[in-house]
Order: sequence, then C-alpha cells, then structure tokens
Amino acid sequence: MKEAECSVIDRAVERMIQVMSNHGLRITGQRRTLARLFAEASGFLSAKEVYQSLEMKHHGLSFDTVYRNLRMLQELGVLEQFNFEDGMKFRVGCYGHKHHHHHLICLSCDHIYPLDYCPMEHLTNLPAHFQVVKHQFEIYGYCEECQQPDNKPLQDIVSV
Ligand SMILES: [Zn+2]
Ligand SMILES: [Zn+2]
Ligand SMILES: [Zn+2]
Repeated sequence: MKEAECSVIDRAVERMIQVMSNHGLRITGQRRTLARLFAEASGFLSAKEVYQSLEMKHHGLSFDTVYRNLRMLQELGVLEQFNFEDGMKFRVGCYGHKHHHHHLICLSCDHIYPLDYCPMEHLTNLPAHFQVVKHQFEIYGYCEECQQPDNKPLQDIVSV
C-alpha cells in the first residue's frame, strides 16, 4: 500500500474513533478493528462480512455484538446503512454530510455520491391522512467511469 493511501485510511480511522469517543463510547480493540475495516473497505459490507473479519481477530465475538455496534455507529453517523436486494449493508458515512441526505450509488464500483437535495420536500401530493415519520430514497446507476453503452439507465428504479 502506498504511503499516501495509508495516511488517508489512518485519518478515516481516527475520524471514526473521534466520533465514538465524543459520544462517550469506550474505544475497545474491537471498535478500532471495526473502524479500520470500514476505512479500508472500498465499498459496502454486510453485517455478516463484518462479523467474519472481526471474528478472525477477536475470538468469541458474537454476531449480535457486531450487529449492535453497527447499528449504534449508524445512529452516530459514523456508518451509513443501505438496503440492497441481497440485504442490508453498511459503509463509512459521508464525511461532512451529517445532516439528512441521500445518495447516488454506482452499481458497478460501489462509489456513492451524496445528494444534499431531498426529494421529499418537493412531494406535494402525499395523502393528507398519512403521517410520514421517515423515508428512504437512493438513486442507483453508473458513475462516469463505469458507464458502458449497455448499462442503460434503470428507469423503474430511478423514477420518483
Ligand atoms: Zn451519505
Ligand atoms: Zn462506478
Ligand atoms: Zn430526504
């Protein structure tokens, strides 16, 4: 690994550790390994994948503990959670986008682009009898580098 890449990862790990300790979490070896795992991952990780990597280093770790940590880190904004057809996955949160935001997700390279614009604010025809408490909105497609002539836009997923 190149030195420059190394320091980018170290900074990402420190940033995650910092948020955890700001929220009064004890920085255990396990949480440090977790932060490094996500900092080094180029894409999304499922809870199972995280568990499998952590378990190699921290024997006796339970899946429940890993899952609870993932959910907690997601609530703190350290990680973000995404729902894919093959299940829920996590990745490092968009730094500097702590507030509510959405994403453009590349189906080929797992790159994500934060979208500060919230489409909900522009929905005017919601039924009045329904009390909305939350929403999800992600846009899937191909980034500039991954665009191929046969990667046609997925109309049914993209349309609002
Ligand atoms: Zn984000
Ligand atoms: Zn891409
Ligand atoms: Zn929104």
